[in-house]
Amino acid sequence: MIYIGIDLGGTKIAAGVTGLKGNILSEASSATGAQRDYKEVVRDMASCALKALEQSGRSIDKVEAIGIGIPGIADNSTGRVIFCTNLGWHDIPLREELQKHIRKPVFIDNDATVAGLAESMAGVSAGAASSVFLTLGTGVGGAIIINGKPWTGAHGVASELGHLTMEMGGIPCTCGKRGCLERYCSATALIRMGREAVRTHPDSLILLRAGKPEKISGKIIIDCAKEGDPLAVKVFDRYTDYLALAINSIVSFLDPEVIVLGGGISMAGQFLLDAVNKKMPRYLMFKTMPYGRVELAVLGNSAGIIGAAMLGMILKEGESL
Ligand SMILES: [Zn+2]
Repeated sequence: MIYIGIDLGGTKIAAGVTGLKGNILSEASSATGAQRDYKEVVRDMASCALKALEQSGRSIDKVEAIGIGIPGIADNSTGRVIFCTNLGWHDIPLREELQKHIRKPVFIDNDATVAGLAESMAGVSAGAASSVFLTLGTGVGGAIIINGKPWTGAHGVASELGHLTMEMGGIPCTCGKRGCLERYCSATALIRMGREAVRTHPDSLILLRAGKPEKISGKIIIDCAKEGDPLAVKVFDRYTDYLALAINSIVSFLDPEVIVLGGGISMAGQFLLDAVNKKMPRYLMFKTMPYGRVELAVLGNSAGIIGAAMLGMILKEGESL
């Protein structure tokens, strides 16, 4: 038996065929072309899936189900996308439309949720009874996995960890609220902090590397911090203060076995883990009690395809998470 996973991004569609353990057998991708009519995007998703299937050398009869990770929220009982802001989708019959091209069971969920599911089944949190996944990218996505299944809540909006309010009346967020966690813990936030800091410290290595403030990236700040540039160290320190505080809120609320950090910022590797782990005890309520280990995601970009494919393994038709 094989599964198809489709990772629908704002700029790229990636599809892959996986085996039962989430091992990718083949992959295909194309541009999303998000400005087009949704039917055209879905047609390309189907083409990508069929191309990957052809490359795998397997026949369509062997495909058990298709899973899709979307940058938004969906209702698996209806197969409809509720919101997908990046694509301008609202109440789209994604399952029905895809089944016009490929007649297989289709399951849909949020991209961070499927990436967290992938890590919990085939990645760094495999074997853990509970884990929380945070993607530290343009925004902050979250996934809560309990006993092998994503916890999406009574109304499908649980794990929106990036939009927990960290600061009342704080920085405006893309969601319309202010002071959301992702305004302080995303790569975008780190870059903003870097740009603010070089205004008063133009002699910093950050600006020397970037050339101009608009070119400052998360990687430049992290690299400069690793090299000991005082301003970069300060900026990274402020960023990890927020991140450690965010992780602590998760620990207090859910006490998961593992907290997995993914997304662009997690490329900082051990440097990031060391900074976070050093700060964790500062915020812990029960300082002598053990708490969940903080780990780096290991599946990278493949998590989207693997986790989407896994939706088909854990769900039955008509069933919601
Ligand atoms: Zn928000």
